[in-house]
Amino acid sequence: MARRVTILGATGSIGQNTIDLIRRDPEGYDVAALTGASNIAQLASDAIELRAEVAVTARDDLLEDLRDALAGSGVEAAAGAAAVIEAATRPADWTMSAIVGAAGLAPGYAALEQGKTLALANKESLVCAGHLMLETARTHGTEILPVDSEHSAVFQALIGEDIASVERIIITASGGAFRDWTLEKLESATLAQASEHPNWDMGQRITIDSASMFNKAMEVIETREFFGVRPEQIEVLVHPQSLIHALVGFNDGALMAHVGPPDMRHAIGFALHHPARRALPVERLDLAAIGTFEFRAPDHARWPALRLARETMAAGGMMGAVFNAAKETALDGFIAGKIGFTRMAQVVEGTLEAMDRDRGLIDAKMTLDNVTQVDHVARKCAREAIAKRAG
Ligand code: NAD
Ligand code: MG
Repeated sequence: MARRVTILGATGSIGQNTIDLIRRDPEGYDVAALTGASNIAQLASDAIELRAEVAVTARDDLLEDLRDALAGSGVEAAAGAAAVIEAATRPADWTMSAIVGAAGLAPGYAALEQGKTLALANKESLVCAGHLMLETARTHGTEILPVDSEHSAVFQALIGEDIASVERIIITASGGAFRDWTLEKLESATLAQASEHPNWDMGQRITIDSASMFNKAMEVIETREFFGVRPEQIEVLVHPQSLIHALVGFNDGALMAHVGPPDMRHAIGFALHHPARRALPVERLDLAAIGTFEFRAPDHARWPALRLARETMAAGGMMGAVFNAAKETALDGFIAGKIGFTRMAQVVEGTLEAMDRDRGLIDAKMTLDNVTQVDHVARKCAREAIAKRAG
C-alpha cells in the first residue's frame, strides 16, 4: 500500500532531495501536502507531478500566484503560516520537517501531534525546544528520526546498542569554506565566499553556518537533546573530506564510525525506509582510491561558536532558543551586509549574556508559546546589538 507523505519545506535543498527519492517510486507514495515559501513555480510543478492533495506557500501575498500555477490541476492551494501548520496536521504516515530556521518549529510540532513518523532535518526544533519535541513525540507515540547527516550516522551506529555503554559521541565537521583561513582574514570574509561549501550542496543559510561553525555548534546541542548524553560526552572533530559523519565510542574502547558519501539522500533515504534498508542512488565509496582519512582538532580561537554552544547547554532552561534566535538574527545581519563575518559570534555571545540576566523568562516551563516568546525577545536583543555596532 502506498504511504502517505508530507514534505514541509519541499522547495528547499532537503525537500528537493526528498522529492528526488519519492519520484523514483511513484506507486509507493501518496503525497498529502507540500509546503514552500517564495519559489511558487517549483512548489506548483512538484505538487502537480506528485498529485499532492494540497500545496502551501508560507507567504500570504503569493496565494494568487500559487492558485494560478495550480489552476485546473485539482491540487488545493493555501497560504500563510497557519496554513503550513494546518497542512502539517493532515494525516500522514511520514512527514519530512525541512523548513529552515525557527519557522520550522511549529509545523514540525504540529506534525508530531498527528503523526506516525517525523523525519527531522530542521535542527532548530531540537536546539530551541528539544525537551518539548521529544516529550510530545512520546505522548503521541510518534517516532522522530534524525536527518542531519551526523545524527543519522550516530543513530545508525547505535542500532542494537545500549546508550548506557556509550562513552562519547564524535561528530565531524568539514571546516566549511574557511577551514584554513586565519582569524585576520576571516574578519573580511564576504557573503559570496561564505556561501560556497567545499563538500556539501545545501541551502545558503546552513552553508554560511558551516563556515562560521555555528552549524556544528547547533549540532552539538542537537546531539545532546536527541541522544540524551551529557555535553562533555560530545566531541567535534574536523574531517575535511566529509566522508565519516560521526563516530560513537563505547565503554570497551570500540569506535563505530559511519562512512558514506556527502549526499543528504543517504540520511533522508535511511529515515524514509527505516527500519528497513533499501537501495539508494548514492555514490559507493572507493576507499582504496580515497587512500587516507584526514582529521584535525577544531580551532576554538577561530570558531567561538563551539564554545558558545557549550555555554548555552550549561546555562540550561530555554537558552537553546536564545542561541538559535541570536544566531539567526546575526546571520540575517551578515547577509544584509550590516555586520562582518566574525561579528556574528559576538552578537550571539552578547545576546546570551543579556538574556541570562533575566532568568524568569529562560526558566519558564518549556511550551511552544514560551519558546516563541523567548525567540522574539532574543531576536530583539540581537537586533539592538547589531544596530549599535552598525551605528
Ligand atoms: P533551504 O533554504 O534550501 O530550504 C528551506 C525551505 O524552507 C524551503 O522550502 C523554503 O520555502 C522554506 N521556508 C523558508 N522560510 C520559511 C518560512 N518562514 N515558513 C515556512 N517555510 C519556509 O534549506 P535547507 O538547506 O533545505 O535546510 C532545511 C533545514 O534542514 C534547515 O533547518 C537545515 O539546517 C537543515 N539541514 C539541511 C541540510 C542540507 O544538506 N541542506 C543538512 C542538514 C540539516
Ligand atoms: Mg549536519
